[in-house]
Amino acid sequence: MAAWDYSSKNGQHKWGVHCKIGTRQSPIDIVHKDTTFDDQLNINPLDVNQEVGCSFTVLNKGVNISFSPKEVNGEAKISGGPLASIYRFKECHFHWGRNATPGSEHLINGDRSEAELHLVHFKEEEENPLESGNGLSVLGIRLVVSDQTNPELKKLLKLFKDANFKGDQKESGDVIKIYQILSDIRGKFYTYDGSLTTPPLAECVKWIVFSEPVTISREDFDISFAAVYAVNRGEESNEYYDPFTRSDCCTCGEKPKIGDNYRDICDLNGRKVTRSFK
Ligand SMILES: [Zn+2]
Repeated sequence: MAAWDYSSKNGQHKWGVHCKIGTRQSPIDIVHKDTTFDDQLNINPLDVNQEVGCSFTVLNKGVNISFSPKEVNGEAKISGGPLASIYRFKECHFHWGRNATPGSEHLINGDRSEAELHLVHFKEEEENPLESGNGLSVLGIRLVVSDQTNPELKKLLKLFKDANFKGDQKESGDVIKIYQILSDIRGKFYTYDGSLTTPPLAECVKWIVFSEPVTISREDFDISFAAVYAVNRGEESNEYYDPFTRSDCCTCGEKPKIGDNYRDICDLNGRKVTRSFK
């Protein structure tokens, strides 16, 4: 498909030209009082392998920083909770704001947090996961700025420095216990049927969004999210195209930083959101 981004030129109001947009799109505003407690979610609790460690290949895609597991000691997978199958860890990335404005994708009770981490999983033995109703499961973890950074999250954020410019790609040897990022919060989540939040917007995702956030310090936020650029290394100009300007299009005099890379919320269209806690 054609180039897409978050600007007024190629942004989300245009994505539907190239993508099929149905009635189960993501992200959404999760309004707690409209969700339903489902004790079935706790009979076989959400199981994440706390001890598995991954090293990553990090890539600056111009609209996001993508982390793909390179070497995994153990099995990086999730099961239980709302999941009827095993789902294997495929990739992770963040969504965040610019200029100290919040940039999570999911809202809870109308509240947008500073950033959101997505741990993307593919259903085991599913040939066409994007074409299957629940071919993917994504764990959505909201980040809020506080005094300290979750220790495993901090290791992941350190890899941003290897991908400051568009196209930068680097393999890291650092081993990160990725599921320990959610060790304190994993029991309490909302779940619903939704979609990818970027093109192709496929309606294939069993979303699991944790009700509690994890913390990040302002300093760690600034050395990671606020220090990655949407232009190629060495690109010099008086005027740059800015892929994230949602108002008056689309140039700026400075190298544009990546941020405000969140999709606006979508209609529920009658979908039910259930939760694992009272
Ligand atoms: Zn995402």
